[in-house]
Amino acid sequence: MKLKTKIHLFSTALMLIVIVFMTVFIYQLFERMAYDTEYNQLSKRSEELIAALAKADELIDPNTILRAYMPPNGSIRVIGSDNRVLTQVQSAEGIEQVTIEHGGNAYTIQEWNGIPLLSTAVPTIWVDGSIVQLQFSQMLEDVQQNMEQLRLILIGVTVFSMLPILASSVALGKLVTKPIDSLILTMSKSRKSGTYETIDIEHNRKDELATLSLTFNEMMEQLEQNFVKQEQFVSNASHELKTPLTVIESYASLLNRRGFDNKEVSNEAIKAILMESSRMRVMIEQMLQAAKYRENGDIQFVYVSIQKIVEETLSQMKQAYNRKFQLTGDLSVDAYTNEAKLKQLLFILLDNARKYSEHEIIVSIQEENNYVTISVQDFGEGIDVKYLPYLFERFYRIDEGRSRKMGGTGLGLAIAKEIVVSLHGEIKIESERGIGTSFIIHLPKSDNLINF
Ligand code: ADP
Repeated sequence: MKLKTKIHLFSTALMLIVIVFMTVFIYQLFERMAYDTEYNQLSKRSEELIAALAKADELIDPNTILRAYMPPNGSIRVIGSDNRVLTQVQSAEGIEQVTIEHGGNAYTIQEWNGIPLLSTAVPTIWVDGSIVQLQFSQMLEDVQQNMEQLRLILIGVTVFSMLPILASSVALGKLVTKPIDSLILTMSKSRKSGTYETIDIEHNRKDELATLSLTFNEMMEQLEQNFVKQEQFVSNASHELKTPLTVIESYASLLNRRGFDNKEVSNEAIKAILMESSRMRVMIEQMLQAAKYRENGDIQFVYVSIQKIVEETLSQMKQAYNRKFQLTGDLSVDAYTNEAKLKQLLFILLDNARKYSEHEIIVSIQEENNYVTISVQDFGEGIDVKYLPYLFERFYRIDEGRSRKMGGTGLGLAIAKEIVVSLHGEIKIESERGIGTSFIIHLPKSDNLINF
């Protein structure tokens, strides 16, 4: 069954039950009130009769007095202590045959000839001094007619009130399912065409369904962006690999043509092939890493000494490049982080500082509230402010030729950014042309900032 139909049926059935209950309640309330009114009148009549009987002359026939107080369309029976009917007067034909049963209530209602018959009994002293029951009965034709009318009115009201309810439940069903329908339509359109379709959202809609559509649109936009990025990554990667491959191919074919006779040329060819193939290896490793990062969500965090991690990284860098590195700041800080990732991050930043500067490189550690700040500062050429927003993009290089010459791939800072995010931290750059560059990392110090 469609959601629209379900909503329609459910809301209609619910409202119908509520209205029927209310109608039945109103009907019964009115019926009880009508019976109570009739009973009050009958009981007043009985009080008057008892008073009249008490005052009556012995010579007057008691039936005459009974007749004077007889209810219209009813009867009065005088019942002795042995339950025998002593006398009875009636204004409705055949009523004497009705057996009237009294329960514990003030009055009883029973049906006779399809008309409700109200009966009540009061004790009194009869003309002969014995105690008798005066039993009053009255047929409630008027009440029955009124109740009949009320029934018709209530049925009419129920039917009429169901019409707007039916209409509103249809409208409600449409209101709820319209965005869902367009969601389904858009999804199947996207699936068939392979494009990233979005849903039109009414401007002034602010409900959950609008949020659903908005979230769907955002998801589609993100998917599209990811797809474009992925495409870009693949095309950049193949472009990057093409250059070293062309160099290798041309030197290999040179060797193939000329052989190894000319030592100088063959040495140059072999050197170039070696350099380009090792560059390719680095590049492929970095590409794999960049591709892998997104799916890596399971990183082990422990408390480690930041000084120890920085010192170990610096000593490896010193050995490999014979450059001067200086460590300053607050060296006693421990942080809740991942040692291997942090080292990898420092390698990338220190390697860049080394590649793009010739002077000393300063690493400083600072503790600030719940964060530890590590900055890597070089005194190189610096970066123009207009390039700063793009530095963390994959394959972005300010001076492609220079980067290539330095063995760069344009992937280092993109990987660095991914690592910082996986460590729940932040990275920013401060740089000035001709003065130098600082990469500043903020990392959470304690586990409660990571395991929340
Ligand atoms: P690459 O492998 O080319 O170094 P990165 O992603 O590590 O790629 O860096 C991107 C670009 O940012 C580099 O090509 C370089 O132009 C610039 N860059 C990075 N670090 C520095 C730095 N310390 N000083 C100057 N420029 C830098």
